[in-house]
Amino acid sequence: YFNSNTVAFLDGEFVPASEATCGAYAQSLHYGYAVFEGIRAYNTPRGCQIFKAREHYERFHYSCQTIGLPLNYSVEELTQISYQLLEKNGLTDAYIRPLAYAATPNMSLKHATTGNLLMAVWEWGKYLGDQSLRLTISPYERPNPKAVPIEAKVAGHYVNSIIASSEAKGRGYDEALLLDMNGYVAEGPGANFFFEKNGALYTAPAGSILRGITRNTIIDLAREAGITVHEQFFTPAELQGAEGAFMTGTAAEVIGVSSVDEVVFSKPYAETIGAHLASRYQALVTGQEVRAQRLELRA
Ligand code: PMP
Repeated sequence: YFNSNTVAFLDGEFVPASEATCGAYAQSLHYGYAVFEGIRAYNTPRGCQIFKAREHYERFHYSCQTIGLPLNYSVEELTQISYQLLEKNGLTDAYIRPLAYAATPNMSLKHATTGNLLMAVWEWGKYLGDQSLRLTISPYERPNPKAVPIEAKVAGHYVNSIIASSEAKGRGYDEALLLDMNGYVAEGPGANFFFEKNGALYTAPAGSILRGITRNTIIDLAREAGITVHEQFFTPAELQGAEGAFMTGTAAEVIGVSSVDEVVFSKPYAETIGAHLASRYQALVTGQEVRAQRLELRA
């Protein structure tokens, strides 16, 4: 994630990444009381462009507000710092990781009164690789949204992700697929899930998932392409007979799913709606989409 030349942003200053440290008495460390985002910048014909910076930093604010963690930077400031940090690190295609946390030594179970901010950038390939995934239903459920604010991207929620993902890999699968508290399919440890049946797409509704920004983008791209998208509850049994499936996330982008336990999807991934939307997504984030549309208009 960093080497001796890497620059990080820490509490108002650009510092060598090795100096971006946090004390062991920090409230955030003890209670998982921190908020983060995962954002990507792409090299586009218009130069380095952060994809949906506003959406990500608005969610960052929402997450901090939800858990009462002070955040002293506006969406605009956070965006500007991100571009500066990319430039200082000579990166145009990169992952951006802002982390809001409470570094103050404090063992109380009260909202923090002081917030800290780290921002880091690094080059990161597609988080789940580019081969279709074999998923397994996890024995771990997603956290109950009545227990924790699941729509906030809170660091502590990722203990659930770590144990579910590790458990699935331990059984020889590529990734876990988690159910919600009612037994409906929710999402992966770090990505949303879609499946294709009879030419339509299905994905879990908001409520017990992280409402992915990539999920929204894919829903928009699908609807633009005239594909019906159902945001509705479904059980693992309803995956039977599906033609394809895929996962979405900023880090994972759009990645095919070949099977969920014994259910093998009938179409080769390359022929699925997911694969089609994956290429539309790449064109959009890398700024090729605009160009393609203009060329079409000229032709
Ligand atoms: N669900 C979870 C649990 C995640 O961690 C992520 C990654 N942020 C997603 C879904 C996808 O969200 P996004 O598309 O906004 O990256």
